[in-house]
Amino acid sequence: MLWKGRRQSQNVEDRRGGGGGGGGPFGRPGGGGMRIPIGRGAGGGGISTIVILVVLFFALRACGIDPLAMLGDGGQQVPGGGGQLTEQKSTPASDEMGQFVSTILAETEDVWSGIFKAEGLTYQEPSLVLFSGGIASACGYASSAAGPFYCPGDRKVYLDTAFFDQLARQFDASGDFAEAYVIAHEVGHHVQNLIGVLPKFNQMRQQMSQVEANQMSTRVELQADCFAGVWGHYTAQKGILERGDLEEALNAAAQIGDDTLQRRTQGYVVPESFNHGTSDQRQRWFAAGFKSGKLSDCDTFNNPI
Ligand SMILES: [Zn+2]
Repeated sequence: MLWKGRRQSQNVEDRRGGGGGGGGPFGRPGGGGMRIPIGRGAGGGGISTIVILVVLFFALRACGIDPLAMLGDGGQQVPGGGGQLTEQKSTPASDEMGQFVSTILAETEDVWSGIFKAEGLTYQEPSLVLFSGGIASACGYASSAAGPFYCPGDRKVYLDTAFFDQLARQFDASGDFAEAYVIAHEVGHHVQNLIGVLPKFNQMRQQMSQVEANQMSTRVELQADCFAGVWGHYTAQKGILERGDLEEALNAAAQIGDDTLQRRTQGYVVPESFNHGTSDQRQRWFAAGFKSGKLSDCDTFNNPI
């Protein structure tokens, strides 16, 4: 991916141990407000359609409240819960990994701003917290072992970039676009939060059995994959993807599929416990978003998955 020299987001909070790496190997480019041409009708029956479909679906269900549940994406279950938020000072990321993450976040801001604007809406940008070891969020304390996650309670993506090393070494999913996919997936959860999918999900799962909650979680996760694909679609249009990038993302989606993860970690699969989708499902939904760039092709709630 040709990411160097592009705009970096101002919404990254670097809370890694030692405070952010100090003087990176190359200077950061000026901001320069690069707008991407997203094209007319980015959504093609976009956000409003999705919202209506989602609301219709969820309207059939009963409600509870659990606004703080977090969505963990490390292949392990992350307990929700209301932890205290300790405000920590943050510094802009200045090392190469920090710059990469800031750039990808900026790319998601540009794409989603454009999509929301086409719907007459304003995209509220999420923050991304870089951490190492463990972190206190509005969703409670999380260790790095839980993997990257999005917390709807404070609208922040939490990422320990050590996950990328794990992705490369343990899961055979290396590459910058594989990493970009992970970030775009978490930002996909933020979009779901903005359009009401996550609040509904968190309400509903109070009333669900674990198996039902897992099935619903899978639909939420696959939609986040599809939204990551939508982001990839517009990013590809900018001409900054390189040969092999799409394959990197698809491979990552496969390697972190529930069935593949379980086979790798425990040697057998328990389909009732799947909560992110199989390798095949994750690849297909990412590919669906990537192919059309249309949110209407990401309705994982009213279609077979
Ligand atoms: Zn997720």
